[in-house]
Amino acid sequence: MTTVGTIAAYIEELAPLHWAESWDNVGLQVGDPAAAVQRVLVALELTDPVLEEAEQRACELVVVHHPPIFRPLKALRSDNRAARRLFRLIRGGIALYAAHTNLDQAPGMTNDTLAAAAGLTEHEVIKQVGEERYVKLVVFVPQGHEDTVRDALARAGAGHIGNYSHCTFQSPGTGTFLPLEGTNPFLGQQGKLEKADELRLETIVPESAAQRAVRAMIAAHPYEEVAYDLYPLANPGKVRGHGRIGRLAQPVSLTDLAGRLKGALKTEAVRIVGDPARMITTVAVGAGAGADLIRPAAARGADVLVTGDVKYHDAQDALDLGLAVIDVGHYHSEAGAMGSLAAYLRERLAADGHAVEVMEAEAGRDPFQFV
Ligand SMILES: [Zn+2]
Repeated sequence: MTTVGTIAAYIEELAPLHWAESWDNVGLQVGDPAAAVQRVLVALELTDPVLEEAEQRACELVVVHHPPIFRPLKALRSDNRAARRLFRLIRGGIALYAAHTNLDQAPGMTNDTLAAAAGLTEHEVIKQVGEERYVKLVVFVPQGHEDTVRDALARAGAGHIGNYSHCTFQSPGTGTFLPLEGTNPFLGQQGKLEKADELRLETIVPESAAQRAVRAMIAAHPYEEVAYDLYPLANPGKVRGHGRIGRLAQPVSLTDLAGRLKGALKTEAVRIVGDPARMITTVAVGAGAGADLIRPAAARGADVLVTGDVKYHDAQDALDLGLAVIDVGHYHSEAGAMGSLAAYLRERLAADGHAVEVMEAEAGRDPFQFV
């Protein structure tokens, strides 16, 4: 059975809760982790139309980016519009999960999706906040079972290097063991020294996924007692943090880049700061309200910062720093990533055999309109 907790665990594989900012509130906000789920709705935020859509499409779970329970909740009254939505969720048996600032750092999500819309294929983090170190995982597998174990490891997040999955090295050898009293050995018999043809299967796994990978590996392994080792690695880890910066394959004018973003983000208008004819090579992006990236982006040599929620004095600061800005609006800077999150969930659930329908909300709207 697929539960709210199953889906929460998949989201947290992608965007661990401890990646969220200290002021944030992420994770399961409403509902029972043990409740069964067949339909999930993914939306930027929980508005009345999104809630109606979840009810009409019979979803048992809504996954949002902006947490509805955010500031300390002092009362839960049905005469308060925001609290009323929580009432409706509970009455309808609909759970609610929020992935916010942890999702901004996750690979392929808000910042990476905005970077792709701007035309960046390669980029790095603007402000590093952490590093995901790797550990080496070595397991000894009887010959003929290596593919099953390798596959379980890959599905649990081990053996991913760049755009390659199932990265392992295997070398043959002889394993020995003597089954003692009370054992039920897969090979050999009690009281007799067994020599088995085994493979040493080695791979790497991010530290945060190591325990999950070990559990999956043990479940897929035929032996009663599985011999494995975890080694810390001194290799540099994967950097995570705020914003993205990279170079365009071909320089474009500020106006043309603004046009590209309008098309990619399906918005009617964007605001620009700076000379419209300025040629842009290095692009910084910050999904959501990213004005605090103006200084770091300028310091890293960006020509432009693409973000949302830029205020008047932020724009003046950017001009003084020689940084152009494209304000695509908070909504449009993040809405596209909900498609990325839905696609991730579909793929992850299907790979583990969960028959769950993951839908993107159609009722989401930018509260700002252009006239
Ligand atoms: Zn946001």
